[in-house]
Parts: sequence; structure tokens; C-alpha cells
Amino acid sequence: MQNNRQALADSAAENVITSTHLTVNAVNAFTEQVFHTRGGRIGSGMGSVIEALWGFHLNVILNSEKEIPYELGWIYGHEYNDFACILRNEDWDPETKDGELFRIEVKSMVASADESKAHFDRLQHEFAENELLAVFLWNWKTMNDQPKTIYPAILDYFVGYALPIAQLRDVLHLERGGSFIQKDHCPDGCAIQPCKHVGEPLNASGVRERRSGPQSSRGVGVSYAANFGGMLRMLGSRGKTGKEYLKTEYASDPTKARFIDFMARNFPRVARAIK
Ligand SMILES: [Zn+2]
Repeated sequence: MQNNRQALADSAAENVITSTHLTVNAVNAFTEQVFHTRGGRIGSGMGSVIEALWGFHLNVILNSEKEIPYELGWIYGHEYNDFACILRNEDWDPETKDGELFRIEVKSMVASADESKAHFDRLQHEFAENELLAVFLWNWKTMNDQPKTIYPAILDYFVGYALPIAQLRDVLHLERGGSFIQKDHCPDGCAIQPCKHVGEPLNASGVRERRSGPQSSRGVGVSYAANFGGMLRMLGSRGKTGKEYLKTEYASDPTKARFIDFMARNFPRVARAIK
């Protein structure tokens, strides 16, 4: 039974990944038809709308195939804009994860901003093995027949397993001089080990990267650095070792390669880093 569940989760994840092209076309067709405006804003919350539209349109595609036993559910009361792939005919409890096959963390980036504000900063141990990451790059586009009117469109995307991307992020974090809190070495001197800070990232200056890091690692004038998992920064490498690592992983891990390709296609800085 457990093996059947695993096989179903694997094929569902594969289906979500390979259906993305169709789904993105459907989202763009919808926004081109309905989301017309003049003078579109950046930082408008449109990224969150696009993330949600992807989930709803994917659900339409999944639900059109009656033999498929799963669909997407939008997780409520969650810090992240996440979906869960859930079994269609079972009860779903987001607290216990009963009825779930896996989760999907969704991120969006707007192409016209200088620096991507999207953050992929959950720690490796916070991810389930088969969790997916979906990243959408979008921008306002001019309507073909109405040059003054624009609509938001997805330009490019990555959908794949999240854990390999977190591993890539963490190795490069270390390579740039950052660190992670180790058991029995918490700067807060927590009495019970392992404490809740184990695995929290610190930057090269020893400042905590997340609000949940140790109190004693706050920065001067800032509560935390908040650079960890920045979509562009996380692929930055300082020296030769980092570049070599990126190249080796690119050649050996298809998920990491697809992510690096996605970023390199859209950001010259990343393209230069893997040359
Ligand atoms: Zn601690």
C-alpha cells in the first residue's frame, strides 16, 4: 500500500511538472483576455495572483482527466503561497497532511525589476523529499491589437523537486563564507540540544539570515540579513570552487540543471556564473 502511494505521488509530481507548459499557456490566454489595464504596477500583488492562477488552471487540466485520482488544494492559513496535491476522493486535513501526496511551494518574480525579490529560504529539513518548487517569471505585455493596453503574462518558469534546489543553495551559501548553526554550537547557548536554531543560516559576517535564527546573531541595525535564498543571490559564487560545483551539479543532476538553465535564460548574471 505504501509503495502504491509512493508510485502515485511520483507519477502525480511528474504530471504536474510536465503539464506546466499547457497550464502556463492557459493562464496567459486567460490574462490576455481579461486582465487588461493601462499603466500596470510593479509590486502590485500581481505575482501572487499569477501563482494562484497557475494552481487553478492546473486543476482544470487535472480535473478534465477523470481517471486521475488527484487534484490541487490551496493550503489555507499558511505562510507560503502553497498548494498541496491531494487525493480527489479522500478527506483532506492540511494540519495532519492526511489525504496529501505532496506539497508545492510557488514563487513568482517580475522580469522588469532589477533584483528578484523572490526568496527560497526554507531550510532543507523543512522540505519533504517529494515537495515541488514552482517559480514563475512574469511581466506586463502589450496587447497585439491595442498598443496602449497591457496584461500580465508568464514569460518563463521552473517546476521541479525543491530539495535538490535547496541543496544547491546551501552548498553555495557555505562557499560564499556563510554557515549554518550546528548542534551544540548555538550562539544563544540553548540548554536543550538540538535546539530550534540548528540549521539556521548565518551570513559571512555571522548575522542570522532569517528572523527565526538565534537572537545573539542579530545584525547591527537589522534584525536579520534576509539575503538567504534570494533567487539570484543564491546562485552567486565567490571563487573557483563555487563555479566548479555549479558546473558539476549542472552536468549530473537534471533538476538542478533545469533550474540553472531557467535562471541563466533570464538573468545574464547567472549565465556568466556558469560560463
Ligand atoms: Zn539555539
